Amino acid sequence: MAILLDGKALAFEIKAELKTRVDKLKAAGRKVGLAAVLVGNNPASEVYVRNKAKFSEEIGVHSEIVRPPANITTIGLITVVLALNDRADITGIIVQSPLPKKIDEREVSEAVLPYKDVDGFHPQNLGRLFLGRPNFIPCTPAAILELLNRYGHSPAGKHCVIVGRGKIVGKPLAIMLLEKAFGNATVTICHSATRDLSHHTRQADILIAATGAPHLIKGDMVREGAVVIDVGINRIEDKSNPKGYRLVGDVDFDSVSKKAAAITPVPGGVGPMTVAVLLSNTVRAAEKSRK
Ligand code: NDP
Repeated sequence: MAILLDGKALAFEIKAELKTRVDKLKAAGRKVGLAAVLVGNNPASEVYVRNKAKFSEEIGVHSEIVRPPANITTIGLITVVLALNDRADITGIIVQSPLPKKIDEREVSEAVLPYKDVDGFHPQNLGRLFLGRPNFIPCTPAAILELLNRYGHSPAGKHCVIVGRGKIVGKPLAIMLLEKAFGNATVTICHSATRDLSHHTRQADILIAATGAPHLIKGDMVREGAVVIDVGINRIEDKSNPKGYRLVGDVDFDSVSKKAAAITPVPGGVGPMTVAVLLSNTVRAAEKSRK
């Protein structure tokens, strides 16, 4: 039976480390603040933003949720972001996705100042990552690396197979795992057009699933002794649950955990670590700020 890679417990450890850094900043009269811009009422986004605000408050970081009206235009939303850029008490800005379809998400994320872009989505930050000179790196890929390293599963020299080439997880993770200074791994990337997916997944020393396809990865697709990271957060109907749904990953935990050496649970794996890395980026932004 696989060892559980407990992201919730690790996030708790990181929380204590970050609190020490925040206390030091505050003692020196410096400000640390995270603003989350949330448009509309997507229930999952509400949960994510609430979790980020709670983590912020627990480590002493000022937290603000900015809620522009649901009918805001792209220009209107850029104006909201520019106002946050100008505030010295806000050191990190996130624009929670998904945004309403009529909003140009790329234009809005490019409006965030690169040194306040704690999500790491600004083209300047992604470009720097690509060039091997990273500043802020996307939180979920960074969370996966942190989780692997803290549990003693360094990817260096290993064969990492990523299923999913999304811009938030799969693609930046592939670059990070490839980069000598980060992962230094051999990397295979699979997607919906990959032929014979299980042929590739069975080669993995470390298998990462980031697809949004519930239970895509089954036990027979995984090599005996592999480390399996399940990034997926999918709501599936469950009438026995008072909420009417439950959260599952992209990995079929029951069959895969019988073959893997280690596996992340959903919930309680990559999710809490992603929030911890976001706050780590926010604290770093404040440490680097000259104001
Ligand atoms: P995207 O939709 O951007 O990307 C999904 C990727 O998976 C695409 O490359 C797609 O292929 C591929 N894919 C989908 N179905 C299959 C399949 N059957 N076989 C092979 N490949 C497939 O999603 P994200 O990267 O944004 O998110 C992925 C998952 O991770 C979601 O469940 C999301 O909720 C979760 N997530 C979790 C986070 C956390 O903190 N734990 C943070 C961010 C996301 P193609 O490109 O060909 O379409």
